Amino acid sequence: KRTPLIAGNWKMNLDHLQAVATVQKLHWTLKDAGHENGSVEVAVFPPFTDIRSVQTLIDADKIAFGLGAQDVSAHDSGAYTGEVSGAFLAKLGVGYVIIGHSERREYHAESDEIVNAKVRAALKHGLVPVICVGETAEDLEKHGASAVPAGQLEAALAGVPASADIVVAYEPVWAIGSGQAATPAQAQEVCQALRQVIARVLDEDAAARTRVLYGGSVKSGNIASFMREPDVDGALVGGASLVVDEFAAIIRFEK
Ligand code: 13P
Repeated sequence: KRTPLIAGNWKMNLDHLQAVATVQKLHWTLKDAGHENGSVEVAVFPPFTDIRSVQTLIDADKIAFGLGAQDVSAHDSGAYTGEVSGAFLAKLGVGYVIIGHSERREYHAESDEIVNAKVRAALKHGLVPVICVGETAEDLEKHGASAVPAGQLEAALAGVPASADIVVAYEPVWAIGSGQAATPAQAQEVCQALRQVIARVLDEDAAARTRVLYGGSVKSGNIASFMREPDVDGALVGGASLVVDEFAAIIRFEK
């Protein structure tokens, strides 16, 4: 049985002071609601400049949230101005890193090859890559929902050992920040296809163990319908993860 993962991708929102206040408030909101840690894993993905502060808070207050970065360099160290090494992130207690988000593919021209190099760099430094894939509205019209995300995932997994600890996030580009989420049936169809890619490229055990998330306009009002689908193991939440009460309600989707 896969433990559901609810992940908050803050994107370029909340400075380090706001980050600390937000994580504290989320922790207490969940506690006050009687939320039991363990049944659902929670992870936050703040901007790089927030990570040290959030890590210190999580450590000091024994807050049971995972911590992730939103990108990582494909390189270990050296003359790569502006990049951040997976080694540095690991040293800060970061456990996850989002790789290949559609905003990086679009605004930073990240190809499938770069995404694959970053996935391998993350694994090398002991980070769990949250590999993002998804089709644009145009892809959907031309090729259907699964073809493009399945191809992106296959490319991202090249050279990855079957034993690797990874997370996959299906984020249809047309659903991100649009208020127009996929239907649960659409999410299930693609998440199932992605699990089949994992089985084929890695192995059956990896496919059974790996969490496949849905992302794109997830809200407290639709999360339960996604979580009812057998191949959807959680959500990668953007906008709604910035509003503490809303994100807490998403985490408590079982209630
Ligand atoms: P929204 O939840 O704001 O649609 O963003 C989804 C996303 O891109 C998470 O990575």
